[in-house]
Amino acid sequence: MITREVDLLVENASELITLREGSQRPLVSDQMKKLGIIQNGSIAIDEGKIVAVGQTRELRKKIQGREAIDASGRVVMPGFVDPHTHLVFAGSREDEFEMRIDGTSYMDILEQGGGILKTVRETRGASKQKLVEACEKTLNTMLEHGTTTVEAKSGYGLTTKDEKKCLEVMGRLNEVHPIDIVPTFLGAHAIPMEYRDKTDDYVNLILNEMIPAVATHRLAEFCDVFCEKGVFDLAQSKKILLEGKKHGLIPQIHADEMTLTGGAELAAEIQAISASHLLFSSDEGIKALAKKGVIAVLLPAASFTLMAGRYANARNMIHEKVPIALGTDYNPSCWVENQQIIIALACHQMKMTPAEAIATVTINAAHAISRARELGSLEQGKYADIIILDVPSHRFLGYRFGINLVDKVVKRGKLVVDGGKVVS
Ligand code: FE
Repeated sequence: MITREVDLLVENASELITLREGSQRPLVSDQMKKLGIIQNGSIAIDEGKIVAVGQTRELRKKIQGREAIDASGRVVMPGFVDPHTHLVFAGSREDEFEMRIDGTSYMDILEQGGGILKTVRETRGASKQKLVEACEKTLNTMLEHGTTTVEAKSGYGLTTKDEKKCLEVMGRLNEVHPIDIVPTFLGAHAIPMEYRDKTDDYVNLILNEMIPAVATHRLAEFCDVFCEKGVFDLAQSKKILLEGKKHGLIPQIHADEMTLTGGAELAAEIQAISASHLLFSSDEGIKALAKKGVIAVLLPAASFTLMAGRYANARNMIHEKVPIALGTDYNPSCWVENQQIIIALACHQMKMTPAEAIATVTINAAHAISRARELGSLEQGKYADIIILDVPSHRFLGYRFGINLVDKVVKRGKLVVDGGKVVS
């Protein structure tokens, strides 16, 4: 007997991937293989939220949809969450791409005033409106490839005014674009030119001016630092993250990306929510992350684009029960919007299975940005952020790559992508 009518039913999925096991805590180790798959599954959506999940046969008995999407032969799963992007920037750096191909290192480019510093110059010169327009384009591409929530870092302003400007752009985007943006303050992304050889003065500016301004205007939820040799050292990183924490900003860190700095240990010590990169972390650092439940945000596209031939040791982290999330690291030196490519890189270069990789871009990524209570899995009460992939099994993710497997995207119950294109 039909007892309920809902806005939308997505039915007959060959695999409905719920990831329901991971809602309380991020999935670790063998749990990452438990995707909570329902064969021939359906999902009922009303007022933007999931109201029921189950086998099509069962759901049909009691629920009727005012609209329906037939997902026969397709995978239905939670929208991708991208937990690490540098969304807001102006310009591009294709010239440096060729320098890197020629063998110039990222750090050498930065020392010559290029890299992040070039993007800082261009971002400072761009109006808020221009940045909003550029980001809307990027977000459309992300949405078409299945990403429904992104974390976004500032860090190309590096003055109080310009950092605020970039965070305000995110606030505006949240109003105008279907993708949810979770803002992070990353004033400690690079030492700006005008503070060259006066690093401590710049750290003081972050501590005394930027963090209070960001916190007072509630412009960010998280505070991040690029802890790296020649950028911000361990002591400076700790100071910044603790000051952020005092102001209610949850700490995250770029750690051990190009050298071993002890960033993983610091993340554990200050109970950061996540630590990103971790290519050079020590065994003790990895164990410390596991012990404190710090989520390792791995960014294989950063390794790929830096051409350093080294990737984070995901297998060891999985063995040590470190919770893992995967992100794009979208930025002008790693220009990739597509989490499906990240899954492919994780499978091929870090030897993660498709199932493990799927857990890292959905529920674990939601945990990494403190959103696991409302999204990241398909469960009653959560937001209806759902993607429909034109493949019969989740095992095609990572395996079939280089094209967009996403056919439809439902964001908070609304069809926003159809046939791989944003619905206008
Ligand atoms: Fe980054």
